[in-house]
Amino acid sequence: MPTKQYQRQYKKKKKLAAVAHLGGKCVVCGERDFRCLEVDHVENDGYLEKVPRDSTYYNKIMKDDTGRYQLMCSNCNSIKRYEHREEQQRNT
Ligand SMILES: [Zn+2]
Repeated sequence: MPTKQYQRQYKKKKKLAAVAHLGGKCVVCGERDFRCLEVDHVENDGYLEKVPRDSTYYNKIMKDDTGRYQLMCSNCNSIKRYEHREEQQRNT
């Protein structure tokens, strides 16, 4: 039975691999600290993801070459979400 610690390590390794796969830095500002990097859905279609955000998710990113994922730091991601919300409000 894998321990919790092992699972955490495993997930971290998967995340690091996925981050490296996506270029290793925020597409907006170039931030390279993986602790604040998040996988962003280019088309804001994250709600379509049916997989939990664990190692399965990172495996999926590793295999994906459609360019629908990109890396963003938490700051840039918040700004993108904010602007997206404003855009939606304008359209309704
Ligand atoms: Zn950024």
